[in-house]
Amino acid sequence: MANYTTQIPELPSYSLSPRPSLIPGVSDVLVQLLSPVAAYWIVSLIFHVLDVYDLCAEYRLHTPAEVLKRNHVSRYEVFRDVILQQIIQTIFGYAMAYFDPEETVGKEAYDIAVWARRVRIAETHIPQVLAVLGVNAPKLANSLYDSYPTLAAALAGGNYANSSVFVPWELSLGKLIYHAGIPAIQFIVAICIVDTWQYFLHRAMHMNKFLYTWLHSRHHRLYVPYAYGALYNHPLEGFALDTLGTGFAYLVTGMTVRQGLVFFTCSTIKTVDDHCGYAFPWDPLQHVTSNNAAYHDVHHQSWGIKTNFSQPFFTFWDRILGTTWTGGDVSTRYQKDRIAAQKKVDADNAKVESSVTNSPATDPATAEVQAKASQQQVLKTDGAQVLREERREEQEAKKNLRSRPRRKTGSFDPRSTFASTVPSLHGRSTPILHADGAH
Ligand SMILES: [Zn+2]
Ligand SMILES: [Zn+2]
Repeated sequence: MANYTTQIPELPSYSLSPRPSLIPGVSDVLVQLLSPVAAYWIVSLIFHVLDVYDLCAEYRLHTPAEVLKRNHVSRYEVFRDVILQQIIQTIFGYAMAYFDPEETVGKEAYDIAVWARRVRIAETHIPQVLAVLGVNAPKLANSLYDSYPTLAAALAGGNYANSSVFVPWELSLGKLIYHAGIPAIQFIVAICIVDTWQYFLHRAMHMNKFLYTWLHSRHHRLYVPYAYGALYNHPLEGFALDTLGTGFAYLVTGMTVRQGLVFFTCSTIKTVDDHCGYAFPWDPLQHVTSNNAAYHDVHHQSWGIKTNFSQPFFTFWDRILGTTWTGGDVSTRYQKDRIAAQKKVDADNAKVESSVTNSPATDPATAEVQAKASQQQVLKTDGAQVLREERREEQEAKKNLRSRPRRKTGSFDPRSTFASTVPSLHGRSTPILHADGAH
């Protein structure tokens, strides 16, 4: 191997300019703050359509009857309070961004070179490290030089033919660290901060009677969570738990505005998904970690409220501090709640039916006269054929009426009826059996 001398390449110069907006004419800060709000309502709308048309009954954690009978808050109040929280969080985010320096571009090549330089400096230590392991680096480099000249130069301490510039693999590694490694660390740290922040604040709200009564009990009016109930909180709790938690993680990890956009939007979607009320086998968000809708749903039940505090990403704090639900299979408990809610809906339906039966009926004599007159009128015009068709239609309508389920009286699901809740009532099987936190 030729006898070169290792040098550390110089860093390139750079000039900064303001970062152009993602959407021309709209500041990235505004996009960052509005994206989570838009994502919240888009994802919620999808789940709401599934709810209203009962499209995925077999994956529902609760029946429509439970949504009607077990929640202690109206959908309007939930909607209103979520909007309020989103207004507060957007104003706060905008105010914080006011103090941030303007983001610039132009330094990327320099930052990549800084990492490539660190790689080169690390290479200069390879011979010493190999010597500790009993390997003669110069000898090894010489034997590899003809077949693998770049590897030989790296083993020899970054001793390249022209070591005053970076070789391609050093720059590639620099790019990988800059574009993937550092952002991955930022996101992992931010996720850990949010999980830690939320776990301890959330748990404190359950341990302190005043905090629970004054703030957190509002979120627990939803015994049967649904997607857009995810951020249904007391405004102060929403601010402390969600806005400050994610905002703090964003600042500590030094994310850019665009990284913040991705982070806030993903956190929001995860929170909505955790309250969606479905245990889907194919939803990646429900299987990347063991924290999912089934896991959090246990916390929304009266019997599981002192467990499963972790939110929204991982469950490690519950595991470490022993607050994971350990009561085993929860399917019987769920079934009990479903039956109780269904009985209430049935009782309501029975009341409506009896009031209809007792309503004043049309005078039969008058009805007979009207029918005869109508028949005569028809015979005069279209003849017996029309009457036959009319009779057939009438019989069909009666048959349909007998087989068609009664309409539910509530506002949740216009299509949802007594009969349509029955498959949900009995059809829940696999997913819920795993809602015991024992993933
Ligand atoms: Zn709680
Ligand atoms: Zn919740």
